[in-house]
Amino acid sequence: MRASDTALPTTGRGIVVVGGSLAGLHAAEALREHGYDGPVTLLGAEDEPPYDRPPLSKQVLTGEWQPGRAALRNGGELAAARIEVRVGVRATGLDPDRREVRTADGAAVAYDGLIIATGCAARTLPGADPRPGLHTLRTLADCMALRAELRAGARLVVIGAGFIGMEAAAAARSLGAEVTVVDPLPTPMQAVLGPRIGAALGRLHREHGVLFRLGRNVRAVIGSLRVEGVQLDDGTVLPGDAVLVGIGATPAVGWLADSGLDITAGLRCDEYLTAGPPEITAAGDVVSWTNPLFGERMRIEHWSNAIEQGAAAARNLLAAPAERTPFASVPYFWSDQYDVRIQFAGRAGADCLTLLEDPDAPVFLILSGRAGRLSGVLSVNAARAFTRARRMIAQQRPLQQAANELSRLLPVEPSRL
Ligand SMILES: Cc1cc2nc3c(=O)[nH]c(=O)nc-3n(C[C@H](O)[C@H](O)[C@H](O)COP(=O)(O)OP(=O)(O)OC[C@H]3O[C@@H](n4cnc5c(N)ncnc54)[C@H](O)[C@@H]3O)c2cc1C
Repeated sequence: MRASDTALPTTGRGIVVVGGSLAGLHAAEALREHGYDGPVTLLGAEDEPPYDRPPLSKQVLTGEWQPGRAALRNGGELAAARIEVRVGVRATGLDPDRREVRTADGAAVAYDGLIIATGCAARTLPGADPRPGLHTLRTLADCMALRAELRAGARLVVIGAGFIGMEAAAAARSLGAEVTVVDPLPTPMQAVLGPRIGAALGRLHREHGVLFRLGRNVRAVIGSLRVEGVQLDDGTVLPGDAVLVGIGATPAVGWLADSGLDITAGLRCDEYLTAGPPEITAAGDVVSWTNPLFGERMRIEHWSNAIEQGAAAARNLLAAPAERTPFASVPYFWSDQYDVRIQFAGRAGADCLTLLEDPDAPVFLILSGRAGRLSGVLSVNAARAFTRARRMIAQQRPLQQAANELSRLLPVEPSRL
């Protein structure tokens, strides 16, 4: 596609992508795949070229992978795609009328088209000032700082029993650290997976030596020069050499505060991933949009969504208005903890059918339905049936019909039954 074929103005300024990570990279590459020939510039606040985050709570944190293995592309691949990656460049403002992004060094980067992919930042614990030993886990730098603390026998307190916290707990145990996890809910990962699966995963972690303080909040992080532990709301003090705060992430939209774009709950986009003016689209964790497959506004903080949206935001940015396509997708995530793989696709619904549950092992396959149709599937170590069910969600199959068909797959799997 030549620039003149697109709906974009063609002043030669090119397309600027803000956010040099998963969604931004895939958007930049998709511009080339769709034939865009003008300059493509990827601005990223971090000092590294694009890298992958899932290994930061898994293989890189355990030391199984060297950090360089998380890189998404090498310099040669970026050069071949003619993507100019500018690392260490933070966008601080956007002027949609002048079509300029302002950066922290005072420069203005002009664009014909803009793709916003600034993702999320780790949420910090209110009232807990930064100090040595107090960690979050979002960036490669965070991962390496935490990794340096995880010696055999070191005491790690994890605040928050969500995915990042529990993956980090598993990684820390594999390195011989003593791990205690604190969470206000009665089972780990309960908010997303519910109490039954939460209880099974809690057993799994206990078998690997993780201690829990559930149903408790943190009153304070203690230690002034460096972390010494945390105090719980019942007054108990948990001593710790390091504390990981794993309480979620917030969309990185601060730099858009004066832009006129709607940033009330992430960056609000329409179904084409357009964020206000037609020459601005967006992708990844930062985006809230209405997913036509579910008729629901959502913001998804998962890997496959960032890739798919990056490609879609680029395609729609280049397309003439009548040729844009709404971004419809079945959200998907996975989590690896020890030898257990948790996968979820779609959306939870009011109807629930358990097709598989093993009392002795964390093995589940649970279908969710809305208005009689399959809307979601949750799998713990039941990968084969999960893959089939994921496809059925996009096909909007009747719940009972999907359950019957999937049941026929179950006697031969999973291997642990
Ligand atoms: C430790 C960890 C483990 C994960 N594991 C899984 C998993 O197992 N399965 C799964 O499905 N998902 C997982 N995820 C989620 C997945 O990695 C994210 O959904 C994905 O990274 C989102 O990509 P993104 O490009 O939208 O945002 P991000 O990856 O957050 O990237 C945004 C980039 O924009 C940059 N940026 C922000 N503000 C600015 C600015 N003003 N100017 C310039 N640049 C800026 C940031 O520095 C960052 O590099 C994990 C995430 C983490 C942190």
